[in-house]
Amino acid sequence: MITQAAYRAPGTGRWRGRTVLIALLVAALGSGCAAGSGEPAKSAPGASAAGKPGQAAAGAPHEQKAAELDALYSPENVRRTQAARAVAAKKWGLASTPLPAPQPPAVKPAISTREGFEVEGGEDLPPLFTTVPVDGKKVVFLTMDDGSEKDPELLRMMSELKIPYTAFLSDYVINDNYGYFKQMRDRGVAIQNHTLNHPYMPGLSYEDQKREICGQQDLLEKNYGKRPTLFRPPYGNYNADTLRAAKECGIKAAPIWASEAYPDHMEWREWDRDMHPGDIILTHFRGRDEWKGTMPDMIRHVMKVVTDKGYAVGKLEDYV
Ligand SMILES: [Zn+2]
Repeated sequence: MITQAAYRAPGTGRWRGRTVLIALLVAALGSGCAAGSGEPAKSAPGASAAGKPGQAAAGAPHEQKAAELDALYSPENVRRTQAARAVAAKKWGLASTPLPAPQPPAVKPAISTREGFEVEGGEDLPPLFTTVPVDGKKVVFLTMDDGSEKDPELLRMMSELKIPYTAFLSDYVINDNYGYFKQMRDRGVAIQNHTLNHPYMPGLSYEDQKREICGQQDLLEKNYGKRPTLFRPPYGNYNADTLRAAKECGIKAAPIWASEAYPDHMEWREWDRDMHPGDIILTHFRGRDEWKGTMPDMIRHVMKVVTDKGYAVGKLEDYV
């Protein structure tokens, strides 16, 4: 009922105030969802129900989520977001304004391990994939790994441009400055797991792999208040023990990547050297001493590629 239709409206309002949203939600939940009717989410709760206060009914979680998304991705919110982005794009020297992301589904898609990437007995383990199922929508996901470079400009730039991203952090490079990533979290960025010490996981025993993943789960939870649900194995290398250990530590999925962004070029996993709906883009927290530019230089480059190809950047955790 919701799954298809939840994609319908363009927009990116997720960075807007939660307080406003909750007020909208309380008002919007009255009508409930036409469960099982096969109706698209046009008939699901939305702004049209806002005039019926007092009828608030407890909807199923996906109905509440649909209402929340409808409010966030309202045409008015999308228009405001794009206007702010246009100003920020000029300020930060982007070639063009980032495109609005499509509304994510109220129910996250089922994701399975990419063909050819399976491990023995992996059916019940966290799926490992390079691309998220997005129903053909032109949305991709930006992920940043490790955490060695802690550039305050990046925080400001991404907030002003309202570009979502996910940070996969490794303790050995962030433990000199946990505070930087607290600021990042406070700006709405999800903090996820990339091990304690960034080892080559298949070279370790099950127990040692578990220590690397669970240890980082504990530290990230302690420092950032939330236990991660996503894990990325260093270098994209893993075996069955890696995914077993990840599951044991509370990990739900293991997204790797379809392409990698640098300040001056892209590297592509696929033979066509192109971008596809749902592709996960990898990049790193690096500075001038590690590659040819700053973090803002890298963002300017990857956003030019993404936008020129007609894609928007979505939030990975909206889908996974
Ligand atoms: Zn890494």
